[in-house]
This record gives sequence, C-alpha cells and structure tokens, in this order.
Amino acid sequence: MDYPYADRFPVHRALPEDGRPREEILAELQAMAREEDSFWETGRISGTMYCGDHDHYAFLAEAFAGFAHVNALQRDLCPSATKFEGEIIAMVLDLMHADAVTDAEPAGLVTSGGTGSILHALLAYRDHARATRGVTTPNLVKPETAHPAFDKGCHLFSIECRTVPVAPETTTVRAADMAAVVDDQTIAIVGSAGNYPYGTIDPIAELGALALERGVGLHVDACLGGFILPFGEELGYAVPPFDFRVPGVTTISADTHKYGYAFKGTSALVFRDKALRNAQYFHVTGWSGGKYMSPGMDGSRSGGLLAATWASMVHLGRAGYRAYAADIFATAATMQDAVRSHPELQVMGSPTFCFSFTSDAFDIYHVADFMRPRGWRFNGQQYPNAIHMAVTRPQTQPGVTDAFAADLAEAVAYARERAAEGAEAELGAIYGGVAGGLTSEVEDVIVMFMDAMLDAQQGVPPVGAAPPAEQG
Ligand SMILES: *Cc1c(COP(=O)(O)O)cnc(C)c1O
Repeated sequence: MDYPYADRFPVHRALPEDGRPREEILAELQAMAREEDSFWETGRISGTMYCGDHDHYAFLAEAFAGFAHVNALQRDLCPSATKFEGEIIAMVLDLMHADAVTDAEPAGLVTSGGTGSILHALLAYRDHARATRGVTTPNLVKPETAHPAFDKGCHLFSIECRTVPVAPETTTVRAADMAAVVDDQTIAIVGSAGNYPYGTIDPIAELGALALERGVGLHVDACLGGFILPFGEELGYAVPPFDFRVPGVTTISADTHKYGYAFKGTSALVFRDKALRNAQYFHVTGWSGGKYMSPGMDGSRSGGLLAATWASMVHLGRAGYRAYAADIFATAATMQDAVRSHPELQVMGSPTFCFSFTSDAFDIYHVADFMRPRGWRFNGQQYPNAIHMAVTRPQTQPGVTDAFAADLAEAVAYARERAAEGAEAELGAIYGGVAGGLTSEVEDVIVMFMDAMLDAQQGVPPVGAAPPAEQG
C-alpha cells in the first residue's frame, strides 16, 4: 500500500477540533486528484477509467450536484428520482431488446454497481425459486470465468455455487458441461457477455436453450459488455446476441458505471419478467417507525447518482455510444494485431474490446514486468498465466497503440532473455497462479492487504508518515 500523502498533508486520526478552511481542503483534494489522474491519462491502464473525458466528468458533476443531497428513497420529496430511475431502466430495457419479450412484463432496478446487480439477481432467483418451485437448498451454476460477485452473492445468501471449467481453446463454457451439474435445486445458470478475464462471450443461445429445457433462470452478466457490445454489433463486429432476443435469458446486468460512462456507483439489472424482480422486494409493515419498504437492498441512496447516470445516457445517446464503441473496437483490434505479430504470444479465444494474451514460450508476466516501468498496467489472470487489456476511451488517444506495439516488441525480447536465464517473473508472484505459495499463505497476504486498505490511520503511523505529534 502506498502512502504518498502522509508527509505532505495533515493526517487525521480524530475529528479536528476546529474545522479546516474550505479552500485549503479543496486545494488538497485537487492536488491528489490531479496527480492520480495523471496515472491513467496516458492511456496505458487497462479498464478502470472507461470514459476519461474531463469535460464529460464536469457535466456529470453538475448533474450530480443538483441532487447529491437528496435521498432517493423519499419519493414524495423527489419525484425527479422516479423519472431518472424509471427512464434509466426503460433505456436499458430498450438497449437489451426487451421489445422481443411477448410473454412477460420486463422490468428493472438501478443498483450500486455490477456486484449490486448480481447480488440482487441472485436474491430474486433464490426467493422466486423458493416461492414457485419449493427450492430449499438452492444452487447456482456459473462458468469459472464468471465474476467473483456470483461467489460473493452465493456466500451472502446461502446458495451453493457450482463452478464449471471453460474450454481452453475458446475460454468460453460449453452448455453440455453446465447441463451436467444443473439439478432440481438449481435456481439459475450464468453466462457472461463478455467475461472479465478474457473478454469472450459465453454461448448465450445454447445456455438459454438449456435454461428453458431445465426450467431454471439464465443471468447474462453484461456488466462489462452491456453498454458497448450492442454498438459493436451495429458496427458490424461479430457479436452474437446475448440479450432478451435470446429465448431463456431471464436477467441481464449492465454497468452504467463502466461503458455507460456514468460516475462510479450505478448499474442496471433488467428482468424478462417483473414477477422475478418483485420476488426480492422488501417491506416491513409493523415497525414502530411506520411502514417501511425498499425496492432493493439499499436504504437511503443518493439522488445525485441517478441524475448523473441519467444525464450521461441522454447526453451521449445511441450515436455517442456508437462513436466511442467504434474507436474502442478499432483500437482493440490494432492492439490485438500487435500481439498476434509475435509468434510467442497467443490471444486467448475470440475477444473484441477486451482481450487477454498468454505465451507458451515464457511466463507472460515477464512482459508485464517490462512494461510496468513504462506506465502500462494490465490485469493479471491465472491458470494459465495471462494478462488482459480492457480497452477504454483513454487508449483511443493518438499514439497509444503505436507505443503499445513498440513497448510490446521490446518486452517480448526481454521475456525471451529472462526465460533463457530461468528467471522468475516479479509480477507473477502477485497475480499469477504459478509462483504463488500455499493457499493459506496467499489468504494471509490477502487479509493483510485488505487491512492495509482500511487501517492506515489507526494508532500506528502508516509507512512513511511523520509522527502524529508533528502534524498539529
Ligand atoms: C466489473 C464487473 C463486475 C462487477 O462489477 P463491480 O461494478 O465491480 O461491482 C461483474 N461482472 C463483470 C463481467 C465485470 O466486468
């Protein structure tokens, strides 16, 4: 964990007795924000900053400012939240071709993020399956590449999580392998469009057929792809249908805070049938504080996030999203060509805007090691070791793909030399599955890391911090 501010700005271990001036606080915040923005403005960081356009952020901040203080739970005070939320849901339903649904009433929810959307879907499936099918020991069947938010949801809601390996050649799951573990207690199966590790799309049509045949739900995780794949399809890229046009698809998560270019903190979850959504509704009628209800798991929510998300969507419109998708798909294709120009490197499966590559000649983390000092940050995969680039708008700036190709060529030469020496990759130990130690050691390190995220200011001065006494 880095503490670059510990000796530059005051460290607070308790509320200051007298508050600090606004100008001083804002200057401090702006200094941190500017420095941190400079990391990704280069276009060398995979994913993370989907938009990267400071003008767009300023526009969203204005939209947010008008409603940030509003509690979206209290609709009598903010009918605007009803408009924003309803229209976000309607626009996402339209994008996901809910018009193809003739036998049910499509509906949606706005949640706090991709994890929030997945958790709400699992809760809805669990409670709906209990009510309609008498399922008492629920299980979920997911490809190993599906996001850990599914494991988290299963953990939280006492659902058994059954994980199915993917085919190594395609990095996507085979419907027959999923079918083998579906049983009468299965509440839903999962497919990703695309998955986070490789950016590839599971065979949604086959999974839909399986879901229908076995009478279970199919959640399509389009957290990553929901706001970019539909436009890739319109642009003529090979994007198989993954939305409500596919029979058997019952829920879809699509993150407004990724390629929807909204602020962090929102995502949409859409349902083929309102009855499934309503299965997770919650209310208490007998509370001394009055009758209480919340349509999702959160209590109070910021009206500002709804306003800013809505503003992003109606400002960009289909043409705006399509234009950005065109840049991103083209940039990703150019980067993949650079990877494919090296016989030592292999692109995994048939990805589009997010792609992963590995090597059978050396540990691919040697490549990441070489490129890291040049500002490149890839996400790391394991089993097998691979690195991925989720192409976002910062990568579409002029010069980024040329720099990628040039640095990659040097990195491949470096990796070949390291491999010849028998050297181990440095980053492999952190991200990869080969150099890591025993599971229990890895778990200890993970707990230490999470502690470090939270406990920097408690009692012990953080690394590099001046002692508290000197900080007035
Ligand atoms: C990002 C992502 C998620 C989880 O989303 P959060 O917004 O980080 O909670 C789930 N699935 C996929 C495919 C993702 O890319």
